[in-house]
Amino acid sequence: MTDVSLYVLPSETKIALLDCQTAFNGLTSQEKLYAHYISQASWYGGLICFIQTSPESPGIFLLFHKLFRGQSLEELQSSAEANGITKEEFQAFLTYAAGFLSNAGNYKAFGDSKIIPNLPKEKFEKILMSSKVATEISGLWKEVSERMYSLEDRLRELGLGKKGITTYFSSNCDIEDAKVAQEFMSAKDISPYNTRLFKTKEGDKVCYEVRLASSSTAEGDVPGCGSILGSHEFTPKETGKPCVFKVTRGDYSDLMALVVENLTKAMKYAANETEKKMLSSYIQSFTTGSIPEHKEGSRHWIKNKGPIVETYIGFIESYRDPFGVRGEFEGFVAVVNKEMSAKFTELVNQAEHLLPLLPWPAAFEKDKFLRPDFTSLDVLTFGGSGIPAGINIPNYDDIRQDEGFKNVSLGNVLIAGYKEDKVSFLDEEDKELFVKLKIQAFEVQVGLHELLGHGSGKLFIKNEDGTYNFDQESVENPETNQKITECYNENETWDSRFSTISSSYEECRAECVGIYLCLSTDALRIFGFKDETADDIIYVNWLIMARSGLLALEFYSPETRAWRQAHMQARFCILRVMLEAGQGLVTITKTTGDDGKEDILLKLDRSKIIGVGKPAIGKFLKKLQVYKSVGDVESGKKMYDYYSDVHDRDEPHFLSLRSIVLDRKQPRRMFVQHNTVVQGENVDLKSYDSSAAGLIQSWVDRFPEDDLADKMMKLWEKEKPYFTD
Ligand code: ZN
Repeated sequence: MTDVSLYVLPSETKIALLDCQTAFNGLTSQEKLYAHYISQASWYGGLICFIQTSPESPGIFLLFHKLFRGQSLEELQSSAEANGITKEEFQAFLTYAAGFLSNAGNYKAFGDSKIIPNLPKEKFEKILMSSKVATEISGLWKEVSERMYSLEDRLRELGLGKKGITTYFSSNCDIEDAKVAQEFMSAKDISPYNTRLFKTKEGDKVCYEVRLASSSTAEGDVPGCGSILGSHEFTPKETGKPCVFKVTRGDYSDLMALVVENLTKAMKYAANETEKKMLSSYIQSFTTGSIPEHKEGSRHWIKNKGPIVETYIGFIESYRDPFGVRGEFEGFVAVVNKEMSAKFTELVNQAEHLLPLLPWPAAFEKDKFLRPDFTSLDVLTFGGSGIPAGINIPNYDDIRQDEGFKNVSLGNVLIAGYKEDKVSFLDEEDKELFVKLKIQAFEVQVGLHELLGHGSGKLFIKNEDGTYNFDQESVENPETNQKITECYNENETWDSRFSTISSSYEECRAECVGIYLCLSTDALRIFGFKDETADDIIYVNWLIMARSGLLALEFYSPETRAWRQAHMQARFCILRVMLEAGQGLVTITKTTGDDGKEDILLKLDRSKIIGVGKPAIGKFLKKLQVYKSVGDVESGKKMYDYYSDVHDRDEPHFLSLRSIVLDRKQPRRMFVQHNTVVQGENVDLKSYDSSAAGLIQSWVDRFPEDDLADKMMKLWEKEKPYFTD
């Protein structure tokens, strides 16, 4: 039987305003205009995520877009209530709409499981039909209603082939098609980041369309990729069967055009030449579908150190492609938070002293630590499916290795998102300390994770000319004590080699670096913690990690034996390593709660962190790094799969604990974001209520143009034929 509660957002879901007022008010009018136009580009681009999530999401977006523009929420509520809808039902309706909009589709941005409305279909329909635009939206409703409510097995989660729903691939594709496409794209040196794959038949041959995202639909060259557009005969080693690949462009073209239009306007208000060059490369990339141009933009972006208004935009994170290589659109604008940034800068200054503390030989560290820009920012705009608390970009390995990257900690997300009122699975004493220090500990973890976590470690590469980027004579693999004979080829990346596990494995490595290095007095002093408080921060940081590992069970699906969230899988693995260390470091006991229902008590023994915890995490982290450095996907995957496995074979019976975790889970909060509006030379910042109604109103105000719906409709129509089964 399906537990429907897993798939609905309860009406008591907390909603918080992502407050950027203070930081925004501190900007000059030029900076405000720059922030405004990039925000516009981010919001329009963010609509692409609806298309990237599920076949029905663009339709549901259109339904809400038309409905909420049709009349005010008060008017809608009173006409619905006149038709017998209760206040609770209307609230459930608003919560679904708010959740749908803030997740950019009907699958959770964090967790990849489906979201269905928490009220019966007839009631949902009644609300729609009591609106002023009932006739106009009835066709849309007919088209999306069944899919909106269905919890058929395949529709419950994102996934490829029989495993779930994805729109990164036409619905007739499976993992074999993904592998074949990967082989083709590697051979032609096409980056998958801004692509989707559509499979059709041409005569007796299978034909794959690799569609690049761009505003242009015209034929011609793609900068940096030459004459790649058009047909290519290809016989993959994977299958040995000849097939045809067609590379086309123009995916999401009308939305990409709006992105380009607004980036072009932003250029006028750029703070310096680097920002202008950066925007110009992005514009090239989004116009033509060229990832090399986006890389070029990213290179300028790295060089733009410590800007007051920070942004990044494009097809960035590959968490939601079931194959782990295609990027989801995201665009953000954030403004410097001066106080926190000072601490992070100090962490960067100390990096050379902290990196040698990590548990791998010096040869496995980058030849020269590339000082990343590391700032704490308050988010003004985040267009995309979900808002992270920290970001480390660009994701292009070659740029990271040789030129650097930037770290961004999103301060107002951290603060708004982590105010937890109920803390499960801890005893009273731990709860108190947890509530008191959670945000401080998490800031330390975010800093170490992003900067020294993602920023550390070297990839061993064999260059095309036969030389290596490491000393083959002297460097040994510390796991085998052998010389290193196998490593990456020049055109390979970490993602392409470790594919499906690459995101989570890398998050695990960064999380381990965080809990490992927070044991350093020097690291903690940078954040202003010493003596007893420092000990408490360490304790709470490890406690957060262990508890997150338990909460992670929510993001594991026993039916498909798959993890749906990279960071949570990583934290579960870390909890397993802590438990494996034994000696009472972490204990997990099934108990009965005050409410008489089953409960769990997690304990961490403070006195064992240094003696037991540190060596265990150190050993694990060293392996994570070594397998990554030499590209040993076989050993890496074997180990990672082992720790990711959720089973009931032995203590503490995680599979059984999962149902308690689900029972006691608190809904993830949603964020209401500001809008910016140009008034003459000024830019006004609009704020909204921290409620579902406020969130919906912010979306209504965000897209005032009348022709946006037509553009979305056109894109949706183009999609439909590929998602018929
Ligand atoms: Zn990370």
